Amino acid sequence: MKRDAEQFGMETQLTRLGRDPQDQYGFVNTPVYRGSTVIFKTVDDLENSRARFAYGTLGTPTIESLESAWSAIAGAAGTVISPSGLGAVGLALLTTLKSGDHLLMPDSVYRPTRVFCADLLAKFGVEIEYYNPEIAAGIEQLIRANTSTIFLESPGSQSFEIQDVPAITRIAKARGLKTIIDNTWATPIFFRAHDHGCDLSIEAGTKYLGGHSDLLMGLVSANTETWPELRKTYDSLAMLPGAEDCFLALRGLRTMHLRLEAAQHRGIEIASWLAQQPEVMQVLHPALPSCPGHELWKRDFNGSTGLFSMILKPQFDKPAVAAMLDNMAIFGMGYSWGGFESLIIPFDCSEYRTVTRWEPGGLALRLQIGLEDTEDLKRDLRAGLDRLVNDVRARHPEFAPVSCGQVVY
Ligand SMILES: *Cc1c(COP(=O)(O)O)cnc(C)c1O
Repeated sequence: MKRDAEQFGMETQLTRLGRDPQDQYGFVNTPVYRGSTVIFKTVDDLENSRARFAYGTLGTPTIESLESAWSAIAGAAGTVISPSGLGAVGLALLTTLKSGDHLLMPDSVYRPTRVFCADLLAKFGVEIEYYNPEIAAGIEQLIRANTSTIFLESPGSQSFEIQDVPAITRIAKARGLKTIIDNTWATPIFFRAHDHGCDLSIEAGTKYLGGHSDLLMGLVSANTETWPELRKTYDSLAMLPGAEDCFLALRGLRTMHLRLEAAQHRGIEIASWLAQQPEVMQVLHPALPSCPGHELWKRDFNGSTGLFSMILKPQFDKPAVAAMLDNMAIFGMGYSWGGFESLIIPFDCSEYRTVTRWEPGGLALRLQIGLEDTEDLKRDLRAGLDRLVNDVRARHPEFAPVSCGQVVY
């Protein structure tokens, strides 16, 4: 089904890629192939590796089905799959970097990626320099003789800065550097990373590909020039996903566009509603015109998903946030997102940023909007905001409302 990408739209492709009923006695889905040993028929086949599959670590039909499907969706020359999103980040970095190289990392990057750089890459003599994610073409001033890789993540983890990806990849190409993007938030459906010039694109399949909070997976796709090196690095490490996990990911793939559409509409509905609540100072959702980076998002992205942040007004302190979050009826507190359930967590980027300041002027919360009834979600959030207000008011009576029924601060 290789030609699907040329003749069918994305939604049709998602239903067809990575499976061939003719190979499975007519059954619709690719089954779970578990295997280490592959039997060769003749000495000649064995000695010349003449077999479709040669050994478990080199791939199975289940793994390959997912790899080929993802390559088609991402517009990539090839894809490899790791057991977690963070594993995929490490794999991509190990593909383009060597000892002595200089790496440019956005200050808004996913925090465990920073830990990977500090704890592992630094040990192998890679120089890591963080840059302002909003630097755009200004990145050129940071390039040194030993710079080999520019890493991007857009929007930034938790803080939602949108990067000028084309401006950065254009400079990287002109200077012979590799670019890696963590594209987890948008997925290839809402951001065409390779079309925008990125050499490697990472997706934490744990999020929207799995979609049900029961799967850990990472995918790295590559353009034509970078694919051989990515595959070689992958085969050297042999950190493969489990067969059942690939089966679940292929199942998630079929409905990914529907879940993303739902995440988009619900996310925008709740974000817009939150922006009107008197306790909220700012909503950081790239699809809202009030969000910094909105114009870049509109120019480069095809959609938005269900993860965004909000900043509370400055009078709300940590105890008040705890009063709000400890008693939510629907929203759970948890880190991984992209599932069917809504989540909310407090966060503070100032704990780890090194070249930019995170001073939003109030405490920050990150929300993931799931598939629940949005009216239920608004009621849950409104009750939480009431607890926030009441907690502060109990300790600081001067915050009492000043106009009839409407809370004014
Ligand atoms: C969740 C996430 C990852 C890591 O995925 P895991 O499967 O949890 O390791 C990487 N990057 C981003 C942007 C993520 O949100």
